[in-house]
Formats: sequence, structure tokens, C-alpha cells
Amino acid sequence: MISVYIGMGSNLDGPVAQLEQAILTLTNHTELHNIAVSPIYSSKPVGPQDQPDYANAVMRLDTKLSAIALLDLLQSVEQEQRRVRDRHWGPRTLDLDILLYGDELIDTPRLSVPHPYMLERGFVIQPLNDLSPELMLANGRRVQEHLSQLDTSDLVIIKEV
Ligand code: ATP
Ligand code: MG
Ligand code: MG
Repeated sequence: MISVYIGMGSNLDGPVAQLEQAILTLTNHTELHNIAVSPIYSSKPVGPQDQPDYANAVMRLDTKLSAIALLDLLQSVEQEQRRVRDRHWGPRTLDLDILLYGDELIDTPRLSVPHPYMLERGFVIQPLNDLSPELMLANGRRVQEHLSQLDTSDLVIIKEV
């Protein structure tokens, strides 16, 4: 089993319900085990500001799926929830990103793991810290150390899952 962390985001069509639907779908999947989910936070958009606030959370799970098979699964869930790819960093009903896949370093056209922007995003590191503050990252630093260096003033817990 590989321990995996997934970043979840939505800012369209009932963002909290979108995340809850995705959590339900993934919880019911036979290849995903021991799922834990952080609180759901509200956050300000990255990139274009003329779009609604986001709901964000992080999910931890164990799986034997390969990283690419997991990406396929996450993209199929995004499609089920009618994600439309439009503007880069524009509004979306559901974004599911692989943050960490065990200790693996992956750099292919379809997949970069650890997620290249995770360390600079409060809406990722705060919920990751809620699940695993002591987790050691590839750079030898713990999640909680990164959190202490980020501005998280835009984050508000909107739902405990
Ligand atoms: P960001 O990477 O800044 O969070 P995004 O999540 O909005 O941007 P998407 O439109 O969801 O970007 O994904 C674009 C492509 O990113 C996907 O088609 C996928 O192949 C690729 N990708 C690369 N690394 C990852 C990863 N770790 N998790 C999910 N998708 C990834
Ligand atoms: Mg993303
Ligand atoms: Mg994505």
C-alpha cells in the first residue's frame, strides 16, 4: 500500500456539496482504503480574482493503484462532476490533485509529484497539516514547519467532514 494525499478544490455549483460528492465517490471506491479528510476551508482564488471563493480540503488514503491509475480515476471523478476546462486557474466544479504519492518523485508530462505548487499554497498546507503535521516532505522539512511560513489569513473552516 502507498500512502497518498489528494488536494481537493471547488468554486462552482455548490462547492461544499461538490467536495462532499467527491469524498463519497472516492470513499466507495474499492481500491481506496483508510480514507481520512481534513476540514473543508473557504479560500480566496489563486490567479484571476473575478471568480467565487474556493472550498478546499485534503484527503489521505492508502492504495495499491499506480500513480497514473490514480490520476485516471481522479480525472474521471472530475469529469463525472462536469468539470469544464476553460481558463487556466479559472473557476471549476472540481479539482483533484495528487499532492504526494508515498515518497515518490514523479516528473512526466501528465504527472508531477509532489505537486509543484503545494508548498506555497496555504489552502493545501493548512488542511494537510490538520491531517499530518509531522509528515516529513522530500526537502527534509515537516508540514508544520511549512505552515508556519505561510499566510493563511484568508482561510476559514466552513465544514468539519
Ligand atoms: P495546478 O497544478 O496549479 O493546481 P490545476 O489543478 O488547475 O492547476 P488542472 O487543469 O487540474 O490544473 O490539470 C492540468 C493537468 O495537470 C492535468 O491534465 C494533469 O495531467 C496534470 N498534472 C500534473 N501533475 C499533476 C498532479 N500531481 N495531480 C493532478 N494533475 C496533475
Ligand atoms: Mg490544482
Ligand atoms: Mg488539477
